[in-house]
Amino acid sequence: MNKNNIKFETNAIRTQLKRSENLEHSVPLYLTSSFVFEDAEDMRASFAEEKDRNIYSRYSNPNSSEFIDKVCQMEGAESGFAFASGMAAVFSTLAALLDSGDHVLSARSIFGSTHSLFTNFFPKWNISHSYFKIDELDTIESMITPTTKIIYAETPTNPGVDVLDLEELGKIAKKNNLILVIDNCFATPYLQQPIKFGADLVIHSGTKLMDGQGRVLAGITVGSAELMNKVYRFSRITGPALSPFNAWILSKSLETLAIRVDRHCENALKLAEFLEGHENINWVKYPFLKSHPKYEIAKKQMKAGGCVVAFEVKGGLDAGREFFDSIKLLSLSANLGDSRTIVTHPASTTHSKLSVKERAAVGISDGTVRISVGLEHIDDIIADITQALG
Ligand SMILES: *Cc1c(COP(=O)(O)O)cnc(C)c1O
Repeated sequence: MNKNNIKFETNAIRTQLKRSENLEHSVPLYLTSSFVFEDAEDMRASFAEEKDRNIYSRYSNPNSSEFIDKVCQMEGAESGFAFASGMAAVFSTLAALLDSGDHVLSARSIFGSTHSLFTNFFPKWNISHSYFKIDELDTIESMITPTTKIIYAETPTNPGVDVLDLEELGKIAKKNNLILVIDNCFATPYLQQPIKFGADLVIHSGTKLMDGQGRVLAGITVGSAELMNKVYRFSRITGPALSPFNAWILSKSLETLAIRVDRHCENALKLAEFLEGHENINWVKYPFLKSHPKYEIAKKQMKAGGCVVAFEVKGGLDAGREFFDSIKLLSLSANLGDSRTIVTHPASTTHSKLSVKERAAVGISDGTVRISVGLEHIDDIIADITQALG
């Protein structure tokens, strides 16, 4: 069979390491820190990188390689590296590519820890950033400086589920010879493949929908072989590698990514549609609701709307607290992309480090609720949220 014709779901299941002499059906766990050499010449040639083989699990490990291989196929990427967390992927990728004096042009609505990285840590290595507004992509070019090297963005955004036009970003990056890095965590490669639209590198927190069951932390970056080689050089020295155990979990989880994400999206759309008419909320946002301001763009670049629905409870902070205290079945937690539905209050948790003004700039009010819609029966999810809103 021609590998290029094999569908997403089939690749996710059928991509696996070569069987060992035991002819196992499911891939074994290579829980080993190092690998042995045949002889002195093998050892020399391996370290000289004349051979493509495992040496030490900080550099590569069979379980990580299988996970990377799957994500590369899913994203249409040439090469990748797997990290111990999503933030390890974000930090190592950017640190590998940026030099002292460089400038990053980033969307304002980004993951809280990524924002902290730009504002609290990069300045000490003389790496600066500026933020563009996500609904003003036409201002990006005027913000490019001679030292700008990277354009960085997430879509859909967290927790506002705003959508950025990837095709537009791809064109701007290409025209200005900048590296486009997209955090594709909210969409997963099943719903959206940024490389098709011109992204050079794609980052994921594997902790979210890729694992899908809230068990392990993981991250991955995939993209062009040339850029990934720089990321690999940096990472094999600095040591953010994913543990083989977590890689094994992740690779297994990817076998069911499509079927899980389909159901997440089906449930999320049903919940968003239900909430749209509810008398106790001010607004609801979900990329695949017709009322979403970027509905057409979402339809163009995504297969479905994802697992996150945002809405605002009427009555501000007090009503918000009452809503959270009334939730019975669903989880109050800060994670997302879990099989369990999770209800989060961004203003007091994930985005509490931002000032009220900074929160307003990324669309988070005191009453904003983020729901990561899980895989429970939709009737039970809606019932719990309805009684809490009542
Ligand atoms: C969670 C998340 C991250 C960070 O991932 P960790 O695995 O928690 O380190 C980065 N970007 C986005 C969009 C996320 O949701």
